[in-house]
Amino acid sequence: MNSFEFDYILVGGGLQSGLLVLALYHHQPSARVLLVERQDAIAGNHTWSFHPRDVSTSAAAWVSPAVEYRWPSYQVRIHGLEKQIGLSYASISSTYFAEIVAKTLARFTGENRVTGENRESSQPFGVLLTGSEVTQVHRNEITTANGQSYRGRLVIDCRGAKPANQSHFSQTGYQKFWGFEIELQSDWPFDGPIVMDDRIEQCDGFRFIYSLPFTRRRVLVEDTRFSNNTAIDRNDCLQKVGNYLSSCGVNAWSIVREEHGLLPMPISGEHKPGSESLADEAMAGGYAGGWFHAATGYSFPLAMDFAETVASTTPERAAAAVTTLAVSNRTRSQFSRFLNRLLFCLVKPPKRYQIFRRFYQVLSTDSIARFYSHRFTARDAFRIVVGLPPAGLQPIVFARSLFRQPKRTIATVANSNFTQISKSDYEEIGV
Ligand SMILES: Cc1cc2nc3c(=O)[nH]c(=O)nc-3n(C[C@H](O)[C@H](O)[C@H](O)COP(=O)(O)OP(=O)(O)OC[C@H]3O[C@@H](n4cnc5c(N)ncnc54)[C@H](O)[C@@H]3O)c2cc1C
Repeated sequence: MNSFEFDYILVGGGLQSGLLVLALYHHQPSARVLLVERQDAIAGNHTWSFHPRDVSTSAAAWVSPAVEYRWPSYQVRIHGLEKQIGLSYASISSTYFAEIVAKTLARFTGENRVTGENRESSQPFGVLLTGSEVTQVHRNEITTANGQSYRGRLVIDCRGAKPANQSHFSQTGYQKFWGFEIELQSDWPFDGPIVMDDRIEQCDGFRFIYSLPFTRRRVLVEDTRFSNNTAIDRNDCLQKVGNYLSSCGVNAWSIVREEHGLLPMPISGEHKPGSESLADEAMAGGYAGGWFHAATGYSFPLAMDFAETVASTTPERAAAAVTTLAVSNRTRSQFSRFLNRLLFCLVKPPKRYQIFRRFYQVLSTDSIARFYSHRFTARDAFRIVVGLPPAGLQPIVFARSLFRQPKRTIATVANSNFTQISKSDYEEIGV
């Protein structure tokens, strides 16, 4: 006998599960959903940004209401290149996202837009369990730390990225950042987001400031790096941000919130979208399932596609649909890793800005949009890599990176403090 209490059980209450909740309510409002999160609140502490052009037509109906901020374009400033990119940009704070997801789960079920079935019910669409660590995840069942088990027609593991010392990857670079949301006493001098402004001291890889003006007086300013190690020092980032603000004529400000991240940017081929087993184990979504853009660190576009795919079919057919989606993303994921290899292994850290400058210089707005949304074409890929080679190459290091490194070495180096990493350490991890 099948005694499923839920149609869908979502493990972990981050971006992927939240998007699944929105997509499932849109496509199957009479489904029953359980979301289990180990923290006391869902969605963590993030600002998720993406290009609205990442959103497919079919997903727009459920993604658009979740957008908190929207700008018509953004700027990049890289080593003398100042360019306005004519692509709209959007952001969602985790507070806003958590509210929308919780409200959606609390809604009452109605008509199923997939089957047309009209099963009015007095039950809410979903159940939200917070402060509950999931200790076992199986295809149709989960168990929490207090020994309680729940059964579902489909369990989706959305427990996010593993800590750096248990990395999925034998070789990876990192995008790491520390952001300060600040309140200003005078107006912010720039009109829209600046996603890269490298007019700060360059060290530890390619380093730049990312700024998102939510209002004229409230701005997220992040010190970001593409680096070969995991170390990041909050005070160092704060100092860099302070210097940048002064250089922009912003002197009176106070911090209202902080966020930081360490996103793996894999060079090696493991953990591509859908590469986790879909057979006997639970299906894995979000970072846990490899659903992220290896070359940008953004996971919103792929997490959204995953949610749309799962929600557009039945729990029993979801695995096949997700496998098809994974297959359609494999080559792009492989290419993205190749780009990371060029960035983190072939080009010396002080010269890495050339890769980004060239990307924004030579690519059309449409190609940039396709690249970020992980829908780039072979022609886009060709355009990205073919051209004058950048200066400052290290071909021997690059060649050595092609030979698989033992994971143990990466973890050891990745956990050390970057100020202590010597040149030989860099060479050891293939950079
Ligand atoms: C600060 C920050 C900013 C980012 N900004 C962007 C951005 O602008 N655009 C973008 O596309 N990407 C961004 N990313 C990258 C990416 O979108 C995020 O990492 C994204 O949150 C991944 O989604 P996820 O659902 O897979 O994992 P997460 O959002 O990390 O969610 C995983 C959840 O699972 C919970 N969990 C883990 N283990 C258990 C367990 N055993 N039991 C129960 N719950 C558990 C965690 O507490 C967490 O809430 C950012 C990342 C960070 C850290």
